[in-house]
Amino acid sequence: MRKPVIAGNWKMHKLVAESVATALALRPLVANANHCEVIIAPVFTALKTVADRLEGSNIRIAAQDCAPEAKQGAHTGEVSAEMLRDAGATHVIIGHSERRQFYGETDAFVLRKTQAALQSGLTAIVCVGEMLEQREAGMAESVVRAQLEGGMRELTPSDLDRIIIAYEPVWAIGTGRTATPEQAQEMHAFVRRVLSERFSTAASDALRILYGGSVKPDNAAGLMKQADIDGALVGGASLEAESFANIINYNQ
Ligand code: PEP
Repeated sequence: MRKPVIAGNWKMHKLVAESVATALALRPLVANANHCEVIIAPVFTALKTVADRLEGSNIRIAAQDCAPEAKQGAHTGEVSAEMLRDAGATHVIIGHSERRQFYGETDAFVLRKTQAALQSGLTAIVCVGEMLEQREAGMAESVVRAQLEGGMRELTPSDLDRIIIAYEPVWAIGTGRTATPEQAQEMHAFVRRVLSERFSTAASDALRILYGGSVKPDNAAGLMKQADIDGALVGGASLEAESFANIINYNQ
């Protein structure tokens, strides 16, 4: 049985006090959410404070990115996976489409970051997904296959234990235009198939694949009913405790 994961990506939002306030408002609203793992990803500067204030809760902390270098060194502006773990993170989002689109991250770079995350004991939430033009050109599967093959090239089947995939069609992120549950299911089944060819059926059957792209309280349950959708990576609707809690509690 794959335990669902609902993760909130706060992107570049909220000062430290606002992050803490949202986290503390969320805490009691999801205290009984034993059906899924709950994760929030605050900005780097708020990560440690939020992690400390959530100690003892069922909410885990993700960073939104990490350095591709595992070791400390002369890498101005970077934060290593080890430092994120030290600050209280258990997970890290890697290869989000905004990083691929606006900061030029390639599949090879995503692979290095994923390896650095795994080496430091973090679980990597690796994002893949096609752009609108690619979908319209009938290339959604080939784009996602290339991202998976390039981004996971050197990983072993046992690495998959600490990897979560987020399928996020770029055309659905922050646009209010969600993939239908059927469209999402089709791509999730495809992702699982690609990974079963690359690794093993057992490893890919155990892998959690999250859907991301305009997930809201009113569409979460429909998406979560699909056989290969094991959770959600939520942007906008995770910024407010009540709406995020309503997504987390999709089963009520
Ligand atoms: C995201 O940024 O990962 C995301 C899915 O954003 P939104 O939910 O706002 O579409």
